[in-house]
Amino acid sequence: MRLLAVDHPLVAHKLTVLRDERTDSPTFRRLTEELVTLLAYEATRDARVAPLDITTPVGPATGVKLSAPKPLVVPILRAGLGMLDGMARLLPTAEVGFLGMIRDEETLQATTYATRLPDDLTGRQCYLLDPMLATGGTLAAAIHYVVERGADQITVVCLLAAPEGIAHVERETESLGVPVTVVTAAVDEKLNDKGYIVPGLGDAGDRLYGVAG
Ligand code: URA
Repeated sequence: MRLLAVDHPLVAHKLTVLRDERTDSPTFRRLTEELVTLLAYEATRDARVAPLDITTPVGPATGVKLSAPKPLVVPILRAGLGMLDGMARLLPTAEVGFLGMIRDEETLQATTYATRLPDDLTGRQCYLLDPMLATGGTLAAAIHYVVERGADQITVVCLLAAPEGIAHVERETESLGVPVTVVTAAVDEKLNDKGYIVPGLGDAGDRLYGVAG
């Protein structure tokens, strides 16, 4: 597994405002979008392209276009939804699938409660969106889900990652034979005993959308 912690002053600035407990939900949502667009620039470095002949007003030129099959962007519900617009801004022609996963707050085990994805992902590059790589259980399950359907390159985009989660995802995916890259704005110190990233930013879903009853 490849880990890329994006080192950029704008990423660090936006992340600091996201972490601040005084930041309200509308600001949190807008900054998440902006931050994901910056991360997406790095995350799409390996996007597959094919040569394309065009004509400029001055003469012929060869450029590139995104290859078929189109990349697939998969926000992991609920909090990953807050990252979709920021990713789609950079990859507007990507297809979007949805994966609903929830972790049991006691066992920290992830279960799938909803999916809306093509059955056949053969040869697809998949971008999984999940703001917090905490224990890594949800992401490892999501990676297995798309690889079992044929995805052959996985890039995870998250706002924050914990060392424990990174190690878990690495362990759980090393035998898959599919390249996995994790792109994050920062690697934090640790998890606390409730599985929250420290110092983190709290519950990303709650901060994006408020506390659901
Ligand atoms: N999920 C969150 O929203 N926050 C954490 O810190 C860990 C998991």
